[in-house]
Amino acid sequence: MTTVAQPQTPAIRTPVPGVVGADVLVPLVNGERVTYANFDYAASAPCLEAVRDVLDGALPYYASVHRGAGFHSQVSTDAYERARATVAGFVGAGAEDAVVFVRGTTDALNLLARSVPAGCEVVVFAGEHHAALLPWRHHGSGAGRVVRLPLPESPAAAVAAAREALGARSEGPRLLVVTAASNVTGELWPVEELAAVAHAAGARIAVDAAQFVPHLPFDLAATGADYVAFSGHKLYAPFGAGVLAGRVDWLRAAAPYLAGGGATANVTEDDVRWNDLPARHEAGSPNVLGAVALAAACAALTEAGQDALHEREQRLLGRLRAGLAGIPGVRDLSLWDADHPRVGIVSFVVDGLPADLLAAALSAEYGIGVRDGLFCAHLLTRRLLPSGHTQAVRASLGLGTTVEHVDRLVDAVAELAGRGP
Ligand code: PLP
Repeated sequence: MTTVAQPQTPAIRTPVPGVVGADVLVPLVNGERVTYANFDYAASAPCLEAVRDVLDGALPYYASVHRGAGFHSQVSTDAYERARATVAGFVGAGAEDAVVFVRGTTDALNLLARSVPAGCEVVVFAGEHHAALLPWRHHGSGAGRVVRLPLPESPAAAVAAAREALGARSEGPRLLVVTAASNVTGELWPVEELAAVAHAAGARIAVDAAQFVPHLPFDLAATGADYVAFSGHKLYAPFGAGVLAGRVDWLRAAAPYLAGGGATANVTEDDVRWNDLPARHEAGSPNVLGAVALAAACAALTEAGQDALHEREQRLLGRLRAGLAGIPGVRDLSLWDADHPRVGIVSFVVDGLPADLLAAALSAEYGIGVRDGLFCAHLLTRRLLPSGHTQAVRASLGLGTTVEHVDRLVDAVAELAGRGP
């Protein structure tokens, strides 16, 4: 078995709000150690220091919620339900909306797929992350016809395609599914316009906001979205918790996502009476610490001001894109115009240098962590890849990203591109 070098953590503080591990030193092949330059926030963002502090405070008390009479259970139940209220505020969910804690965005959209009324027509763009693309035809979904729209040439074409697919107003249940920010290109989708189109046709819209909420504020009411899904681990909280928030009626009428304790109001020999929302879809002992951590991240980002954080990130993103654009042989992947608004995600290829080799060299020689592959959005990524490439590299930015990291990445890509395969 190979021995993995252990990280060292000197006491340096990171920009506000700080992320745990932004100052970790990693070993390079030459034996030198450098501060890890994390460019993989879109996969999973490191934990915020503020989240860690909240978790430290919760650890001594955590217990099973809603069923215990003891003090710890009361404290935990209170923390769990306060977390729900914080999350509701974070996404602009109203008192009449449901906020269901799940495991992540994949789980949230699968829950929705199981909850749509039988025969519901689902319209989805081919460029979606697999979590948004696939659940509608999967085992247990009530969806009927699934219409997969080709990748649109522009945001306006996306709106037009959705309008055409949804057609005239109809009474039957229909759902349009769309991402708010692409995990491949970072590009923002015209969610508000799509919501208006969906509603004009009597349909609903579900928004995959996994890559949006870590970068920008999202508001259900303001966007007109009916459902929003996102994951805690992309929002600077540890793994295991996510959210589906939105309209109650379909969720309330659906069979519980999982059968088990917590979802049940009463069980007799012959019958089961299920609970109402949100417990209906939260069977089993809930992930209390996951929910608390996720809510702490929502609170910390809100307090820091997501618009201000976005501005900082946009400066770094501009620097990165300009730097990469100046390197011969580097091509970035975009569906739409180069100046279309996007969050801090850049996927690119280097001619003559396979993405997996590039990613491995960035890690081993420069201490830079990127991701290579097709990013769980195979249809979109393959369509955007220039010929001769089978994978891309993705660099995604977050709160621990600095100018030094960006410059290191640009310089490293320039060196490796110059070196060739
Ligand atoms: N949707 C998008 C746009 C994503 O980027 C991801 C994760 O990469 C997901 C959904 C799935 O999130 P999770 O793996 O947390 O369920």
